[in-house]
Amino acid sequence: MNARVLIDGPSELVFDYAVPAGLDVRAGCRVRVPLRRKSATGTVLAMTPMPEQADFALREIESLIDPQPLITPVLLRAGEWIADYYACGIETVIRSLLPESVRQEENSAKTRRVAVLDAAPAAEVMAKLARRAPRQHAILALLAHAPDMSLPVADLGDGSAAALKSMEKAGLLRLVAEEVRRDPEADAHDEVVESAPLALNEAQQQALEAIVSRIGQPAPKPVLLLGVTGSGKTEVYLQAARHALDMGKTVLVLVPEISLTPQTVRRFKARFAAMRDQVAVLHSHLSQGERFDEWHRIRKGLARIVIGARSAVFAPLPDLGLVLVDEEHENTYKQESVPRYHGRDVAVLRAALEGCAVVLGSATPSLESWHNSQTGKYDLLRLDQRADGRKMPLVRVVDMRQEAAKHKGGPAVLSDKLRVALEKRLETGEQSILFLNRRGFARSLQCPACGHVCQCPHCSVALTYHRTDERLVCHVCGHQSIVPRKCPECKDPAIIMQGYGTQKVEEIMAKVLPAAKIARIDADAMRRKHALRDTLGAFKSRKIDILIGTQMIAKGLHFPNVTLVGILNADLSLHVPDFRAGERTFQLITQVAGRAGRGDIEGEVIVQTFTPHSPSIQYARRHDFDGYAEQEMEFRRQFAFPPYGHCAVLTARSNHERRAGFTLQTLHLRLAENLPSGILLGEPLPSPLVKAHGQFRFQITLRSPKARPLTRHVQAVLARTSLPEDVTVVFDMDALNFS
Ligand code: ADP
Ligand code: ZN
Repeated sequence: MNARVLIDGPSELVFDYAVPAGLDVRAGCRVRVPLRRKSATGTVLAMTPMPEQADFALREIESLIDPQPLITPVLLRAGEWIADYYACGIETVIRSLLPESVRQEENSAKTRRVAVLDAAPAAEVMAKLARRAPRQHAILALLAHAPDMSLPVADLGDGSAAALKSMEKAGLLRLVAEEVRRDPEADAHDEVVESAPLALNEAQQQALEAIVSRIGQPAPKPVLLLGVTGSGKTEVYLQAARHALDMGKTVLVLVPEISLTPQTVRRFKARFAAMRDQVAVLHSHLSQGERFDEWHRIRKGLARIVIGARSAVFAPLPDLGLVLVDEEHENTYKQESVPRYHGRDVAVLRAALEGCAVVLGSATPSLESWHNSQTGKYDLLRLDQRADGRKMPLVRVVDMRQEAAKHKGGPAVLSDKLRVALEKRLETGEQSILFLNRRGFARSLQCPACGHVCQCPHCSVALTYHRTDERLVCHVCGHQSIVPRKCPECKDPAIIMQGYGTQKVEEIMAKVLPAAKIARIDADAMRRKHALRDTLGAFKSRKIDILIGTQMIAKGLHFPNVTLVGILNADLSLHVPDFRAGERTFQLITQVAGRAGRGDIEGEVIVQTFTPHSPSIQYARRHDFDGYAEQEMEFRRQFAFPPYGHCAVLTARSNHERRAGFTLQTLHLRLAENLPSGILLGEPLPSPLVKAHGQFRFQITLRSPKARPLTRHVQAVLARTSLPEDVTVVFDMDALNFS
């Protein structure tokens, strides 16, 4: 076998090297290799078979830097599984598995020199030194009273070097190099006060016991924890984590995104404040050095609770006892670049390989996880009541077709009901959140008079409007139709494209409610560093009356003074050309509604929509996950959508439109040959997002009851198709994004 080595350094070069006899080289090993006339360091990404006839002899690896690979055997197996399942090279997986900072030599641990006493100095020694060498005496006295009888050399004053040297020689003290931790939290201002565990209610207690009983078992089943918003899932996580730690195990906590879930992170920090050195929070703002240190602290078992987003699933925790995946339904768990793994699914896999307990928690589980809980693959635990005894917020649905009829000249952004509700909050000093899900480009056609949306007759997803050729196209099967001049349902000629953004809403709000203090949270407004933290801080301290935002504010925020949540256009997420549109809308309304009424006053939610009778909206209104899941699963079954089988997307991108299109057509022809039975092959089509970053995009959707035959078939076709240099082809298994 040869070793494929990623050379340290910014250019990320990859070369193959031969392995000399007697050297135990494996993927994940750090190695020293010859590079041109010099020697370089690198990481072994993969062991590759020797080519049958090499044109030239490969150079040999010089030596192993560490005898052991950096990757644990379990994580290496997880990596191999990912490479196989998502059809990507193991080297891309290893790259994700080992953070760049860990692979690169120059981030290695920072050290400082420390003077250490092994025993308190004898009285006669001190007496002698006091007379003959006052400086040495002073140093010894300092050390004798220092914690652990050790102090950094730098703290012993300039000009101590000679004294220290002779004391070391005389055996009075030792000088050692000590690793310095670059502590990312070192200058965190918020002092965390330790929080005591709450007395659990009965449902929480049952859930906790069920989870704890799995920790330390040889092969526990994954648990789906379905708990309504505010049911106290986090408290259950905290207490379960405590049990795992008490059993000598470590704990991994995955959250959708660190910056959007500050409260969850803070609650973990507070609960484990007494052991805060053992809590590692992995977020994207760590410096390379900090990341290096945190990674090694985790690997050595010094950090025993790790909290992080998707990629933290690879944290090298030893003795893993419990994995918690919070808000398991969130799309951010899926990586949208190669390797396109799903963090939740890898968490379940890793737990199975490690033999540890895993809990997936959500108020609105993904239908994939729900399905697994129904077929017995997962165990289901439920928390059906809010923990603090508060009622679920009242959800009202406003029919925007009637509003449109009232206001001439286009549909209103703000219904009368919502405006009145906002005014009332301003009077009482309570706060409001306005939510607009603006997934801009993929436009469907909707009639403002009757709410009708043009749908594919074969797939029951909204048709996408393609401006360039004035057509409506189904992005699952390829069905095409002309753009109607008037609504096919009610004949109203006003049928229009939906769409106004958060910025527009902010403008309108400033006019309608001039006295209100308004702030906006979306990707545009949050470009500035700390903008998100500052805005959320200002909202928390009630300096803002109304917060307008996109899905960025739908996650686990907790503001006790928010009593009103308005969802401006629920249809925006409902009629995107994606079979999960209904599921997302249900999740979104439920999650956003969960932001209301977290304090002492009951919350109210107003949902504006042109399709008030859509099941996603109606079931969310009643906080009825089961009802929603039941009807949605029926739809998925009928059309063979996940969780009944797998769905993947094959995309071709290029600066040259024709070449991208042609490549995809070629791939389509080849995929159609010897198509394994059961696989449904979609038509090659322009992507809903036809052009992005200057590149034209075309795609094919594939469905299959089983994952492997689909991946194998696509992989085989890709392997024997030579692609033009300027076309990139991407395969996305279990795709969540169809744009
Ligand atoms: P979830 O994570 O399910 O949304 P949280 O854990 O955030 O729910 O709990 C919601 C609120 O209820 C929090 O303010 C929390 O402190 C409180 N809470 C949780 N468990 C209990 C309990 N057993 N008794 C009283 N209050 C609780
Ligand atoms: Zn269709």
